[in-house]
Amino acid sequence: MEFSFRNSKNLQIGYLLVNWFVKNRRILPWRTNSSIYNRLVSEFMLQQTQVATVIPYFKRWTEQFPSIEILATASENQVLKAWEGLGYYSRAKNLHKTAKEIINQQIDLTYPSHFIFPKTPEEWKQLPGIGDYTAHALAAIAQNQCVAAIDGNVIRVLCRIYAIQQAFKNKTQAVKYIKNIANFFIPPDESANYNEAIMELGALICKSQNPLCEHCPINLHCRSFQEKLDHSQFPKFKKIIYIKRNIQRIFIFDEQFIILKKTSTNRLRNIFELPLLSDISEKMPVREIAKINRSIAHEHITEIIFEPEHLPEKFKNLLNNNSGLMLFPICEVKNITLSGPHRKWLNGRLVAYL
Ligand code: SF4
Repeated sequence: MEFSFRNSKNLQIGYLLVNWFVKNRRILPWRTNSSIYNRLVSEFMLQQTQVATVIPYFKRWTEQFPSIEILATASENQVLKAWEGLGYYSRAKNLHKTAKEIINQQIDLTYPSHFIFPKTPEEWKQLPGIGDYTAHALAAIAQNQCVAAIDGNVIRVLCRIYAIQQAFKNKTQAVKYIKNIANFFIPPDESANYNEAIMELGALICKSQNPLCEHCPINLHCRSFQEKLDHSQFPKFKKIIYIKRNIQRIFIFDEQFIILKKTSTNRLRNIFELPLLSDISEKMPVREIAKINRSIAHEHITEIIFEPEHLPEKFKNLLNNNSGLMLFPICEVKNITLSGPHRKWLNGRLVAYL
């Protein structure tokens, strides 16, 4: 492979990206104050979540938990509440555990206020919730270590530059392939800027649809541009088959109280959601009132929400024998942590009561 070594052309691409990034980067709160703690928080929040969604959460979070020490001493409820609406709550729990572990490791040190963060990807990966991408991103971007972090943007840019024909089964396989070449572009001492630059190029210029090639700082070196190839062909992925799934939920509300369910799976422990229709043991006529669509991994999920045609007289009896069902006064709903799609729907539905 022509690209599989550290040659002057690859390094030149790296420098072009860094120069472009320094002039064109977006102003983001975790770049304005690029401490390791801020980067740690932003990397957790940005997993599977768009930058625009993360910004307000990041600002609120760093106001409430401005340092790793303060985060480590917060309660799980405070942490989950601050995360509410961002989804994938295991990220919040793992970030909390990671903060505690980093602080706990300082106990034996002579200078406890000088927190020692892990440095290499291998060290970062020892902490809860830190996988291969996040470990490399933290080592590279927060600590300027000469390693490459590979996300979807990086895969897309490198596949287009070299018009890589390999069809990947999934993202994991693509990361493995690109990992072999990504390190060869990192200019010495510019790892942090280079890694952000290639991701920023993918987000702003080398977009998955309609890339802005005329404005691309590396278009002279891009094979798919120079050979007028179809950009949408890179990266190539084998076709994914999505599974459709319907979930039936019930909204039981009498203008004062609402029935919600406390989830018990590890991933969503201590998060509340609308109960499943099957959670209600008493049979009653219901009508459909809404549909919530969302996609997780390879599933398209439609949540169909019902309400009782007539509220049962003994409303509270519905709670019998149903583990996890709880009755909440409406004024309490804003204080508990709800799954993101359900919070959004309930806020719209209960706007006059909350
Ligand atoms: S020239 Fe176009 S396809 Fe090539 S890297 Fe730049 S934006 Fe992407």
